[in-house]
Amino acid sequence: MVAVGPRVSRLRAPNPSAMTLDGTNGYIVDGGDGAWIAIDPGPDAPEHIAAFVDAANAAGAHYDAILITHGHPDHYPAAAPLSRATGAPVYAHTSALFPHDRKLAEGDRVRAGNASLLALHTPGHARDHLVYVLEGERALFTGDVIIGVGTVAIAPPNGDMRVYQRTLHRLRDEYSDASAIYGGHGPEMHDARAKIDEYIAHRERREAEILAILTAGPANIPDMVATIYRDVDHRLWPAAARQVLAYLIALEREGRITATPLNVELTPEQHALLAPDLRRIVHERELAVVRAELGFTDEPPRLVEYALRS
Ligand SMILES: [Zn+2]
Repeated sequence: MVAVGPRVSRLRAPNPSAMTLDGTNGYIVDGGDGAWIAIDPGPDAPEHIAAFVDAANAAGAHYDAILITHGHPDHYPAAAPLSRATGAPVYAHTSALFPHDRKLAEGDRVRAGNASLLALHTPGHARDHLVYVLEGERALFTGDVIIGVGTVAIAPPNGDMRVYQRTLHRLRDEYSDASAIYGGHGPEMHDARAKIDEYIAHRERREAEILAILTAGPANIPDMVATIYRDVDHRLWPAAARQVLAYLIALEREGRITATPLNVELTPEQHALLAPDLRRIVHERELAVVRAELGFTDEPPRLVEYALRS
């Protein structure tokens, strides 16, 4: 357990990978008088759950609540066993599909001791995503909306680029004065305004790159990935393809581009990019996380040609 703020400690899950960086960040908020709140206890890893239990026991504290940011398999599965071990109820968004005891909607609060956590509904990365505000300190627990290193995956169908961008703008409008951002992965952040601005700018830049390609003529996703991500490790291209798709879905919905499915056989390279054999890319234990984060399904891939609407 590492103290990362005046009343916030971090317990990092033992699940490092390309998707989870050093591992999923779990947090403990100390509300005083031995009343604690756990946030994102992570994957169902017995030693990690024991670390949450042992930390409370050693401090003579107890958990009043277990809060989950979103239903991705590197964030929530430990909630049920931690709840059984501690008696604390599990809180999640009203739309969450995993087991939980109490439902939270935008504006709801969870209190423990003298700590109050305000729930903000922040969809885009996942529909059920909540950001929690530690009131008083104006610290944010951002799950996978903002993380400490790099950017997050916005992958259809659970991820929606425009919804995500609205979430970022909302956080900038209301919380750019936040004292700290505790993300679901990577180190904590202390310049909230700069971090949120960086996230907003990154999305606008990527979209401009896609539009620049389409300005030169119709293109498909493998073409776009090969151009935009040419300097990026090719093993990450299937993930990049999902990101590009998220922008294209938004642009098509807005009537700015057309999407025409092509009746052509995919080359092996195109197939590997659009429907990768994930078992060849990631370890078995990471499969569930990668599929959830990147929205891969078993549907046969199809090549689609995108073009600017004239
Ligand atoms: Zn996630």
